[in-house]
Amino acid sequence: MKIKFTGTFDELKEKLKSLAGEWDENQPQKKVLRVNGGVLNWFESTGTLSVQGRSPGKEQMETSAPHLIYPNEFPHQVEASATNTVVTETPVTDTVMNASGIELLYLTSGLKESELVIGIVNAVGTESKRVIDPLSNRLEGFGYSVQKIRVSSLLLPPSTGCKEYERIKHYMNEGDELRNKSKNNAILAAGASFKIKEARTGEPQKTAYVIDSLKHPDEVEFLRKVYGHGFYLFGIHADEKSRHDYLVNDKSLTQEQAGELIRIDEDEKIPHGQRTRDTFHLSDFFISHGNNDKQVKNTIQRCLELIFSNPFRNPTFDEFAMFMAFNSSIRSSDLSRQVGAIIARNQQIIATGANDTPRCGGGLYWAELDPSTGEVRDYPDGKDYTREEDSNKAAQKEIIEEITRALIAKSVVAEEKKSDIEDVLRQSKIADLTEFGRVVHAEMEALLSCSREGISTLNGTLYCTTFPCHNCAKHIIDAGITRVVYVEPYPKSRALDLYSESIQLKTSLDEPSDESRVTFEPFTGVGARRFLDLFSMSLGSGSKVKRKDKDGNTVEWKKETAVARTPLLPKSYLDIEQAAFEIWEKSNGGGA
Ligand SMILES: [Zn+2]
Repeated sequence: MKIKFTGTFDELKEKLKSLAGEWDENQPQKKVLRVNGGVLNWFESTGTLSVQGRSPGKEQMETSAPHLIYPNEFPHQVEASATNTVVTETPVTDTVMNASGIELLYLTSGLKESELVIGIVNAVGTESKRVIDPLSNRLEGFGYSVQKIRVSSLLLPPSTGCKEYERIKHYMNEGDELRNKSKNNAILAAGASFKIKEARTGEPQKTAYVIDSLKHPDEVEFLRKVYGHGFYLFGIHADEKSRHDYLVNDKSLTQEQAGELIRIDEDEKIPHGQRTRDTFHLSDFFISHGNNDKQVKNTIQRCLELIFSNPFRNPTFDEFAMFMAFNSSIRSSDLSRQVGAIIARNQQIIATGANDTPRCGGGLYWAELDPSTGEVRDYPDGKDYTREEDSNKAAQKEIIEEITRALIAKSVVAEEKKSDIEDVLRQSKIADLTEFGRVVHAEMEALLSCSREGISTLNGTLYCTTFPCHNCAKHIIDAGITRVVYVEPYPKSRALDLYSESIQLKTSLDEPSDESRVTFEPFTGVGARRFLDLFSMSLGSGSKVKRKDKDGNTVEWKKETAVARTPLLPKSYLDIEQAAFEIWEKSNGGGA
């Protein structure tokens, strides 16, 4: 009730006397009127009137009291029979839970069955079966049936009896050709969707489609567009040495063949080639292949529990710090890529960094708010975009032109070969040079922010969204950092070879750390992009989770009845909007 009464208690009693209720005058600071189970409270100090309690008295007072107190403002009493259907009495969810429409169930968090689409990304030579098999078994534990979609089944098969090397190479070439012919790098994702559509029988049920495997970032973007939050990408990490070993010893490839396939698989450097490396870091979950099956199974179990709304699965410090590193990266205005870094000591974040241009006085440029106009502006000539060029690329171009000019001047090559020479130089390691860039790298900015504030970096852990370049690596070692965790590989980095005496690449969780070297480890766990969806109780894109009931007891979570937090909905927004309209209509909201 949105009215107040600011007169005296006797005046109120007089106005409401036709309700023939009983007044309780003994409560401190308020007077209470009871009618047929309904309770009207009048708070003397504020004049507030509120109605609670049971039917029919509650409705009776809600409709009559305003008219009795202010007859001019509320000249007509609403018919009591009409007010009985007001849905504020019955929660909206109860009303619509009876409806069978999937859209209604979705909007009221009652959707119990939904499909899942899981993409797998791993580099060639990864024994992905060691992850996909337990993933399928564990999904069955959640009541799901699993349909495996093999991307290679979309391509022409190789000739029978061919060796493993030829088989893998054949599928790589077929994939390239199809991407090239269709001028669409996501074409195989479209094929996977077609396979899913073909495999579905009837209404969507608890089916998980596992797509094995994705090789191009455009495929991931495509599947996210089709399946939205119901699509999960699992990145399986296996280090190059063990992949090479698997191809040579388990699949009988020669050393050379194994090396060739690994190189092609990572990045073919042709317009429609596969780019597994650039696909991997888009994952929602990063799973280390490791050497230990129990570890893999437990990791998968936790990922699935998070997908299926277990409210008691919390982030590890590594996951939290990596999430913060990604958060830090998004402040970067770099023209090509955003990189973020975090330094932590004793599980406490002490510094953040991003790749951007430095400003005099310390730190990087921020966009600044002009309080007089409210405009947010960048410092003139500060961030790179304000200079309209990437200084590193410009310097590379200058070097290439200088060498070409000199070769022509000395008659080493003919003038007409100019563009050929420039092509050769452009594809050389000149393209890997980074030192003419104006930006400070994220790792360096994190280290320098500690020096600005006088905080020691000794024995710290550095989390970075990309593997450190060799230049940052030497400063990381020098700063006394003892552990580096990274997500995206950076093959141009020579850190591991240049500082092999100081860096240990630790590729499985249970590998012991060498105390005399800085350990560099690939990140495993929940990726930053799904952090809010899976760990936040209320900020994700799916349903909220509850951890306790109204009495303070923790809620029970069971995998048999667990539902997906961001379910895959077989409806368009127009269908869902229609359901929203029905909810509004049912609540009599339309008449308000
Ligand atoms: Zn760097």
